[in-house]
Amino acid sequence: MKKIVLVAALAFLPALNASLGADAASPPVNPAYMWDLSELYATPEAWTAAHDKTLADAGKLDSFKGTLGKSATDMLTALNAISAARKETDRLYGYASLKRDEDVNIAPNQERLQLAQALSATLGEKTSWLTPEILSVGAEKVKAFEAQSAELKSRFGFVLDNILRAAPHTLGAEAENVIASASNVLAQPDNIYSTLANGEVPFPALSLSDGTKIERLDQAAYAHYRQASNREDRKKVFDAFWGIWKKYEGTFGASLNTQVLAEEFDAKVRKHPNALSDALFTDNMPEAVYRQLVAQANAGLPTFHRYLKLRKKLLGIKGDLGYYDMYPSMFTISQPPKFTVEDSERIGLDVTSVYGPEYTAMLKRGFSGRWMDVLPRKGKQSGAYMNPAAYDVHPYLLLNHNNDYESLSTLVHEWGHAVHTMLDDKTQPYETSGYSTFIAETASISNEMLLNDYMVAHAKSKAEKLFYLGEGLELIRTTFFRQTMFGEFQLAIHEEVEKGQALSGKHLSDIYCGLLKHYYGDDKGVTKIDPAYCVEWEFIPHFYYGFYVYQYATSMAGAAAFTNAIETKKPGARDRFIAMLKAGGSDYPIELYKKAGLDMASPAPYQALIKRMNHLMDQIDALEKQK
Ligand SMILES: [Zn+2]
Repeated sequence: MKKIVLVAALAFLPALNASLGADAASPPVNPAYMWDLSELYATPEAWTAAHDKTLADAGKLDSFKGTLGKSATDMLTALNAISAARKETDRLYGYASLKRDEDVNIAPNQERLQLAQALSATLGEKTSWLTPEILSVGAEKVKAFEAQSAELKSRFGFVLDNILRAAPHTLGAEAENVIASASNVLAQPDNIYSTLANGEVPFPALSLSDGTKIERLDQAAYAHYRQASNREDRKKVFDAFWGIWKKYEGTFGASLNTQVLAEEFDAKVRKHPNALSDALFTDNMPEAVYRQLVAQANAGLPTFHRYLKLRKKLLGIKGDLGYYDMYPSMFTISQPPKFTVEDSERIGLDVTSVYGPEYTAMLKRGFSGRWMDVLPRKGKQSGAYMNPAAYDVHPYLLLNHNNDYESLSTLVHEWGHAVHTMLDDKTQPYETSGYSTFIAETASISNEMLLNDYMVAHAKSKAEKLFYLGEGLELIRTTFFRQTMFGEFQLAIHEEVEKGQALSGKHLSDIYCGLLKHYYGDDKGVTKIDPAYCVEWEFIPHFYYGFYVYQYATSMAGAAAFTNAIETKKPGARDRFIAMLKAGGSDYPIELYKKAGLDMASPAPYQALIKRMNHLMDQIDALEKQK
């Protein structure tokens, strides 16, 4: 869930919910709950030796410059050498970052990670000639070489195709140099945002009705206290938190406007019709997918409003439902169920048994090894992730297991990434083993959905059943409707600039307000949106990553369609899903999806998710009637 950056450009989605970090009063470390990094490098000294050798190898890679067009054999030799250096760099980087995360305060571990980052930068510099040279060799000659060398085609064919696709958007050497020189300046809005939002905004202090004193109502405190069961308290939290953002509306507006202008600049000079198509180019994703997602989320608003009305009823709210009523749990259980790591593994195996014996065998193998650093500990990195960096070894996972349902769900989610990696690495050569985020989150969210259905089915009481149904619904609100609304906002603000309009902070808030009111049914009397909260856009860091958040929503829609087909034993559905995971990064994500039976540019997957949401609410209605 957490974003990790690897050499092979394998990046996962950052967590949607802020983690509150490791518990300071942790039990002593039991090796059984720690990973064993000696499978990557036997000792830190072995890492250093491998690092030095790889750095020397990387230094020689520019000697291949100018050889690619000579023959198929020359091209294969050069690509092999680059690939070998990249593979070892991934593994070195993986070890360094895992070792650092064991305790983020240890200086030698921080330094090792810096060395890995420097190695990665050197590798980038020493191979920066590669893409321009392949483009100048040209598609015709590359295809001719592939016809002569089966190995060139099978291992590098897709990679080459992906590079050649960029030809119409690649400029002459002089223009490319100008763009490269400007890139640092164009990346600054994110820094400005981060300095302001995470450093200089003077977050207020606040007292709650039970005497709780919040010293600093920052993002993490807001994420916690907005769930307050006392309605006056959560309104107070909203008013204080958004009140301070409102004061910086102009500055955040200037910062986001600059980000939008930077993206428009790139689209224009690279000859893309608009910023959206530029952003989607990396994944070769048709704009139609993005626009269909937005259209289908809008078509699903009656279902979303049904959920909001249910929420209002269950929270016992008289009068208008407010935006500050979204976060408290609709169902609380007096004794929340507890899940140890062993319980979570057992449930994880049971839940994913629908994927068949191959998946189960892999998950068992993973659980029996020491692949996880699973318990919270002082100094340990917060959050959760799966690291796939060591292609020849196995994935590693970092969790902060707290024995609650969220921990169980996170474990099942991250192991979804891990088994995806195992299936992929077993099937694909290193060169096509890096899957896109678009596919990655489908593998993990599918597991979360299967888990949610399993917990509803196996709940020991009505209260427990309702709790799980509520969790399932809230996941759809935050992952599908909220992220699509963000995606629609990004589209709207870019289109304003493309039409020649200017974007001030006030104008951004007006656009955001329009969307918030529309999604939450303000004009239909479903929710009353206080315009004071329409500065929420200021708080979303993802708007500085380009058009990115839409993938949360598409992944969830895909997961809903896949899990429904698998749970209802639709012929071939399970095998097609597993085949998609095995295909790794061997084709563009939209094509991999199609082979698995889903067209993400069609309404079907989004409708499957809406159907799922209604089904969860039907079950709640039925249970509520039993009262
Ligand atoms: Zn994930």
